[in-house]
Amino acid sequence: MGPAVLPTASVPATLPASYRGRFAPSPTGDLHAGSLLAAFGSWLLARAADGEWWVRIEDVDGPREVAGAADRQLAALAALGLVPDAPVVRQSGRDAIYQRALDRLLAEGRAFTCHCSRSDLVPTGGVHRQCLATAPRPDPAIRLRVDDGTLVDFVDGIQGSQSQDVAREVGDFVLRRADGCWAYQLAVVVDDADQGITDVVRGADLLDSTPRQILLQRALGLPTPRYAHLPLVIDAGGRKLSKSDDSQPFDPGDPLPALRRAWTALGQPADALAGTSSVAELLAVASASFQPGRIPRGVAPFPASHNRDFTIRD
Ligand code: GLU
Repeated sequence: MGPAVLPTASVPATLPASYRGRFAPSPTGDLHAGSLLAAFGSWLLARAADGEWWVRIEDVDGPREVAGAADRQLAALAALGLVPDAPVVRQSGRDAIYQRALDRLLAEGRAFTCHCSRSDLVPTGGVHRQCLATAPRPDPAIRLRVDDGTLVDFVDGIQGSQSQDVAREVGDFVLRRADGCWAYQLAVVVDDADQGITDVVRGADLLDSTPRQILLQRALGLPTPRYAHLPLVIDAGGRKLSKSDDSQPFDPGDPLPALRRAWTALGQPADALAGTSSVAELLAVASASFQPGRIPRGVAPFPASHNRDFTIRD
């Protein structure tokens, strides 16, 4: 991987013409229904655009990492036949590039050191607008300053027009945490730009992070990729499947049912894959018959193996 793409603000931040997507799991557990949908959905959209599909392991959150999870996620992707078009990158080896971005934001006065603790921010509902700490901490965080009235609008490829008042709803947000870990928001923005990602396809649980990422791209003079947020996967009781008791562990020895479930949760007709009997055959038929316009917004009930009779709500 070459040096970070951190142009000066005067350089136009434009996307290349060709498509490059990615799947970026955090190794906090095994691949589950939601991450499987993101993996397959991002792969299908990359194939539909005749583009590339990369994989990045987002292992900057040491305290939440589960030992061996990254390797199991990669093994699961291999079993699903979802092969990245470039070597897998792990964020844990990339401190220097995140530091460079942070140093630049600090030097330009866009980021600041913050001694506030979680309890300092309770009165403002966790939203940081000014430092309220009464004493310095040995381990301050670094935050991005978000000016009052900072509205970010963008059009999501699946969810449509989005708008967020980042100052009011989120506040000055953390770039490096008090425990020294890089915040997801900083690492994801730096890496998407450094890897030349043009299209971010991921779960709708990250839709409200996108305005923060767009603000960071602007602050760093980086291009904003196109965004498409896939529906949330829920079980029959309406619970987010990854968090529910019904979460189905993916069996790498039996990838076809998982691919079929993800396919239907992406709004695609189940019968398109009827008759396919190997991963290679299923993926070939899937990429040839995939219709991006059928991906639902909202939630996608994920059929349990014992209950294939389900509907997709908008
Ligand atoms: N690493 C994040 C997660 O597993 C996803 C990041 C992204 O796709 O932007 O939830």
